[in-house]
Amino acid sequence: MIVAMQGKATEENIQQVIERMVELGFNVHRTTGASQTILAGVGTPDHFDVAEFKVLGGVHEAYRISSPYKLAGRSFRPEGTKITFPNGVVVGGEQIVLMAGPCSVESRDQILTSAKQVAATGAQFLRGGAFKPRSSPYSFQGMGLEGLKLLREVSNETGLLVITEVMEISQIELMLPYIDCFQVGARNMQNFNLLRELGHVRKPVLMKRGISATIEEVLLSAEYILSGGNYDLMLCERGIRTYETYTRNTMDISAIPVLKKLTHLPVFADPSHGIGIRDMVPAMALASVAAGADGLLMEMHPNPDKAMSDGAQSLYPQQLQDLVQQLRKIAPVVGRSIA
Ligand code: PEP
Ligand code: MN
Repeated sequence: MIVAMQGKATEENIQQVIERMVELGFNVHRTTGASQTILAGVGTPDHFDVAEFKVLGGVHEAYRISSPYKLAGRSFRPEGTKITFPNGVVVGGEQIVLMAGPCSVESRDQILTSAKQVAATGAQFLRGGAFKPRSSPYSFQGMGLEGLKLLREVSNETGLLVITEVMEISQIELMLPYIDCFQVGARNMQNFNLLRELGHVRKPVLMKRGISATIEEVLLSAEYILSGGNYDLMLCERGIRTYETYTRNTMDISAIPVLKKLTHLPVFADPSHGIGIRDMVPAMALASVAAGADGLLMEMHPNPDKAMSDGAQSLYPQQLQDLVQQLRKIAPVVGRSIA
């Protein structure tokens, strides 16, 4: 931490800051310049709030220089995290991993057809919500346990892995036998109790960025899961809320290279929720791969016009096929490949 004192700060002000820094466990290095005193705190106390220093007497500015997320930070694992799934699929390696499927599991027929179409593109994961966090309580809330069973059944039939959203702690146990990866939705990125519990399971988690979450908040939420001992964690940019209303969200492509720099965790992109308009989803998917994403999570529905949720942003099966062909051309440009 660096504390820059005001030019008019008294020796008493300076001593008060030094005392507090020492109390927290910092080694303090003092530099007295012509116009102000700079106090550099070396060391990494577990708990300190830089805001506390900003309001001390005589302080001009205080900056944190170490990151508040220790386990999620790139320096924890400079080589990057690789996650290996039961069938040998690796996330975080050279190959970009594709996850696709409908927003919600709606029926056996719908999810089986989806699974076949997704498998035909070469994607590795089938997505589909069994528990749905809907903005309105009157909208379709998902098929629940029945949906989980269907996901497992059709994935086994097509050789896909299953990713689906967990909304609350009580669903974790119920879901474990049926799924390969938990999805934490944007609305739950700061459901810290849920995150803590997911830190104790031994199953990978993909955590989406909250609707208005800063990158630091994303990484601090990741820290909740990692600090429980679950290191099989992926992050996912899915668009954020801005003043723009034309698109459903604003796909923050810039978050991808920023996260890749700051963390060792694999970074996914969800271009479907990111832009919310079907015909523009492929452009966001291509841009995400070009920007360094390790994988994509995309919505596709056998009949989007009849979808029970997110039909307007769900690709037609043929669109997904075409998109994957294009992705196969973009990936090598950035040193990656797509199965
Ligand atoms: C979803 O993937 O269908 C979903 C609800 O996503 P998000 O949490 O990003 O809104
Ligand atoms: Mn959706």
